[in-house]
Amino acid sequence: MKLMKIAARVLLCTSIGLLSLTFPAGGLAKSRRPKSTSSVKPTAAPSTDGAKSAEAKPNTEWKVITVGPREYLTADNIAKFYRLSGAVDATGKTILLSNGRNQLQLTADSREALINGVRNWLCFPVVLKDDKLLVSRVDLAKTIEPQLRPHMLPRDGTIKTVVIDAGHGGFDKGAVSTYGNEKTYALDVARRLRPLLQAKGFKVILTRENDVFLPLELRARIANSTRDSIFVSIHFNATSNTAASGFEIFSLTPRGAPSTADDALALHFVNMQEGSAVDAQSFELSATVYHSMIGHFPEFDRGIKRARFAVLRHTKIPAILIEGGFLSQTADSKLIANPSWREKLAESIVTGIESYRNATERKERPMLAADYRTQEASKITVLDLAQPPARLETPPSSFGVIAVAPDADTNKEP
Ligand SMILES: [Zn+2]
Repeated sequence: MKLMKIAARVLLCTSIGLLSLTFPAGGLAKSRRPKSTSSVKPTAAPSTDGAKSAEAKPNTEWKVITVGPREYLTADNIAKFYRLSGAVDATGKTILLSNGRNQLQLTADSREALINGVRNWLCFPVVLKDDKLLVSRVDLAKTIEPQLRPHMLPRDGTIKTVVIDAGHGGFDKGAVSTYGNEKTYALDVARRLRPLLQAKGFKVILTRENDVFLPLELRARIANSTRDSIFVSIHFNATSNTAASGFEIFSLTPRGAPSTADDALALHFVNMQEGSAVDAQSFELSATVYHSMIGHFPEFDRGIKRARFAVLRHTKIPAILIEGGFLSQTADSKLIANPSWREKLAESIVTGIESYRNATERKERPMLAADYRTQEASKITVLDLAQPPARLETPPSSFGVIAVAPDADTNKEP
């Protein structure tokens, strides 16, 4: 493969140019499928970004390439647009693009991408065709663009209220470790979040205040009855692979795309499953919170993912679901059982939410994991992890573990 050395000027036009690349409201409309290669000239419309609009240079053409049922853009086209430069590595399969502030690493045949230092899961694998790495149009619009140009995201109003949803509850214990239950830890973190968020000026609503079962639809209904608000669902993970560990975070899968856990190449994902009117905001919220979590903890980076979990699908406000480590893994489960660690987890979530509010209300660039690490390195943190974890177990329920009725979705609930 030719070495790609690109240092073109980024185009600071409004989102109109790029969004013209996204699927129309009706999804992947057959009637609008372009020829195998077509050009799209981004429009230079007045930017919402004040002074930066003066820098607008609408000179990067998008060349859409159709492979099978999908539309793609080349990595060098993307590099030009975002003014990134870089090169393909020795394997010829991975490209690392950077401009100092933004970094993008893409690998052929893989859905894993590193964006600004954290793992992101693309909707579709990167394709290697005619010596070019190709990225799907939906990934460009829904995954790369929001993170490389967060200032272009739609900004509407203020964030006054945070709806905190402690996963599971009552007879639904969620995941279980030697030390305690997911439902108990999730509620504990939700309760820790409340005063921390209130101290930052947020109004806080908890979907559940104590150990009760709450149907998923009711959680979403509580969220939807609020205004100027965001929804944050707290969970802890478990899997049969006892080595699996680390953080992950979810927002709703974009329309017509597979979720991270789905087979991206299965044809039935070229479908019209509903997305969300606020999926860009939800995705940004997941990125700002995740960068803070990964920036404040040495936990394994499992990545920013997409799913159609009921609480994400039914909420009409920006919504995320946090998985704060694995109760099925020994080291993670010890950390999660430690109240100091959970307090620090809550603090990192609040910092991420604040970063989202600053981005939304003041158009500040969201903090990245590397920024937090730099901040942390200058502090001495006293966290007594040697202390034996307190057992938070609630009395055993006579109901046992329930099976949540599956809804019309391919994802299991967390
Ligand atoms: Zn859960």
